Amino acid sequence: MARKNRKHSQLKKMDLKKIEQGVRLVIEGIGEDPDRPGLKGTPGRVARMMDDILGGTRIDPQEDLEVFQDERHDELVLIRNIPLYSFCEHHLLPFAGVAHVAYIPKEGRIIGLSKIARLVDTLARRLQVQERLTKQVADILNATLNPLGVMVVIEAEHLCMSMRGVKKPKAITVTSAVRGSFRNNPATRTEAMMLIKGGIPGGREI
Ligand SMILES: [Zn+2]
Repeated sequence: MARKNRKHSQLKKMDLKKIEQGVRLVIEGIGEDPDRPGLKGTPGRVARMMDDILGGTRIDPQEDLEVFQDERHDELVLIRNIPLYSFCEHHLLPFAGVAHVAYIPKEGRIIGLSKIARLVDTLARRLQVQERLTKQVADILNATLNPLGVMVVIEAEHLCMSMRGVKKPKAITVTSAVRGSFRNNPATRTEAMMLIKGGIPGGREI
């Protein structure tokens, strides 16, 4: 994805110096020497990495969600297994997995498939919780397309669950947000779920 070319000058830039100072304090707090050779460049590296992996913070997710008119399309559209990397705002640790996004166009209004993947990416590259991320993708698509229905399912592994506390490696958290006909019509929802689960016989791994 051509992240570098995105227009985000209008939104606030990250204060990389401040992040650097903070990371240095964390290293000191841990009881390490931030000036030893292995750690010397770490605060700067972490700051530049934050600028990238949390870069969605300064992008308006709706900015390039162009809607097209194509009267031939009135059936369910599903993009499955959109890769997702996000950052848990409670622990500042990553969660990663996939998003599945389905919608049913209304009056031929559709959107480029890559734009949906980009929307997921922009919203994921923020301090997030999975539930909110799921809702935001659904609500923005709903507001932009005004479709008959939207359904978003996210499956992710949270390192804050796998590495610490309850230590449940490979536990997958599943969240969903359904709007319109996916909410009102169980058959439509079931059809979408079958399509999401399909593809790999006997189940799949993420
Ligand atoms: Zn967490």
